[in-house]
Amino acid sequence: MLRGVNPSTFRKRAVGVLKLHRGGRNSRIRAEMERAFNHVNGESVNSVDVYGEDKASEEQTLTPWSASIASGYTLLRDPRYNKGLAFTEKERDAHYLTGLLPPAGFTQDLQEKRMMAILRDYKVPLQRYMAMMDLQERNEKLFYKLLIDNVEEMLPVVYTPTVGEACQKYGSIFRRPQGLYISLKEKGRILEVLKNWPEKSIQVIVVTDGERILGLGDLGCQGMGIPVGKLSLYTALGGVRPSACLPITIDVGTNNKKLLEDEFYIGLKHKRATGQEYAELLEEFMVAVKQVYGEKVLIQFEDFANHNAFELLAKYRTSHLVFNDDIQGTASVVLSGLLAALKLVGGNLADHTFLFLGAGEAGTGIAELIALQMSKKTNATIEEARKKIWLVDSKGLIVSSRKESLQHFKKPWAHEHEPVKDLLDAVKAIKPTVLIGTSGVGKTFTKEVVQAMASFNEKPLILALSNPTSQAECTAEEAYTWSEGRAIYASGSPFDPVEFNGKLFMPGQANNAYIFPGFGLGLIMSGTIRIHDDLLLAASEALAAQVSEENFAKGLIYPPFTNIRKISAHIAAEVAAKAYELGLASRLPRPKDLVKYAESCMYSPVYGSYR
Ligand code: NAD
Repeated sequence: MLRGVNPSTFRKRAVGVLKLHRGGRNSRIRAEMERAFNHVNGESVNSVDVYGEDKASEEQTLTPWSASIASGYTLLRDPRYNKGLAFTEKERDAHYLTGLLPPAGFTQDLQEKRMMAILRDYKVPLQRYMAMMDLQERNEKLFYKLLIDNVEEMLPVVYTPTVGEACQKYGSIFRRPQGLYISLKEKGRILEVLKNWPEKSIQVIVVTDGERILGLGDLGCQGMGIPVGKLSLYTALGGVRPSACLPITIDVGTNNKKLLEDEFYIGLKHKRATGQEYAELLEEFMVAVKQVYGEKVLIQFEDFANHNAFELLAKYRTSHLVFNDDIQGTASVVLSGLLAALKLVGGNLADHTFLFLGAGEAGTGIAELIALQMSKKTNATIEEARKKIWLVDSKGLIVSSRKESLQHFKKPWAHEHEPVKDLLDAVKAIKPTVLIGTSGVGKTFTKEVVQAMASFNEKPLILALSNPTSQAECTAEEAYTWSEGRAIYASGSPFDPVEFNGKLFMPGQANNAYIFPGFGLGLIMSGTIRIHDDLLLAASEALAAQVSEENFAKGLIYPPFTNIRKISAHIAAEVAAKAYELGLASRLPRPKDLVKYAESCMYSPVYGSYR
């Protein structure tokens, strides 16, 4: 578009020189700015990342700097810098925008008010999702301001459950591609593909292979909505700057027959590669990521089927900074709820007996972290601690006589017990104080099961974690009614408050979004190079500590989401503190006040002033 333009004329006319109204950048950024100037006669004008950047990604040398961004139409079309009607008269004059915008000037707050009214007018959740995606592509700061200021309302729009429907219809609803696609076709040249991504300073990658998208199964290449959505939460809830986030979908094919037959399907049209072919592609990807982005880039695996999820985590946890939210994030958020619930039900973790329905990524991940916390607090071995935890899968209670035929991640839970076929019998036999549903199968905590729990527990702790709402093991209302108002209840999908016998019960939501954004920020701001389970425990304890007496009085075991940025800062601080303690943090010296430091690192969605 800019070919043939005299560079010096172009520089004068189309590039505005901006001064940022805060201090500090390092030489790398200055070099990037230099590159931006030098690039004006190329394919495009490079904008330099200058506004609302976090400090976590930067060296802390304080030197004033100036930077260039495109002007005129190019500026209006650049979501990172576009402010729409919020450009002031002066900015419009200085950046060749006069006439390109209607005369009215809006504040960012007024733009937000207008956009929220538009969103609330849409009755179909997918329309809201699409409007939000359009906004993200048009005006990034406004998108994040909306998300941050209206987090409880907007979370279900940009993430589960709406993102699931968006993935199902991905091929037809998306106009501009988001994220990076790496398919089997690129085997042997993944390094090259990574270099096509325009941002060079990446701190978090969320990657999926689309095989198990939420509870919706194999959506192949259309799983891209998940990394995109998760990363927008990294920014909104954890304050990681958008330009440091890279969503990736690895396409090895799909076993989804409907997609394979769909002429508009956007991915590779063949069955999933498995075994060596799959492992080789993933290995090449992991090596290339480290080569391009270094040791400290966080790679979050998302929605892989459980056989690959466990293997990838085990294989790369010693060589890369890897995190699996389905396994580790879930474990950390649920453990946090349990730690908080102890204040309501009494005793220590080791005084309780746990029974899970479902022994997959979520179930065994949570079970393992509970056992770890127990063993740390009681000095018992992990094997001893595991004995307090029982799991039921589709074949019944996991017991030692089944050991030979069990998948490897279930084997540690095969305790001595006679076979038990169904959940109700398992509840009666084990007499758990805590019942946790992670099977993905709804309505399995029946009236009999809940009543049995209530018969030997004064306050039965019931977590119905399966998603979406229709798959919850029991609803909040059922849990409170069947236990005669004695259950402490939390779920995977949100439920409205319930009135029972004149008392209002507030069900909690064990949403992973409580943990992973703050956890990731903690890793980034401390320059942590490997994840240790103790960091997950630190995150759980930090979240549990955020539940106030007022929350407990309402039966809540998680704090309200409205304060999520503050919560994330506390989680980040505790995770970073633990990383420093374990010698895993590379950013030195350690900041004194880690909470303040975390807050100061967070991306701000407020517009900067251009001059
Ligand atoms: P997964 O496929 O890895 O595991 C499911 C497990 O349930 C498997 O072990 C399977 O054998 C077992 N199972 C299936 N049908 C069963 C039945 N009828 N009875 C007993 N067991 C049965 O899936 P996952 O990633 O562990 O997720 C499971 C559920 O947990 C999903 O609904 C997911 O949405 C939910 N989840 C919730 C949260 C949260 O609340 N924060 C986080 C992660 C997952």
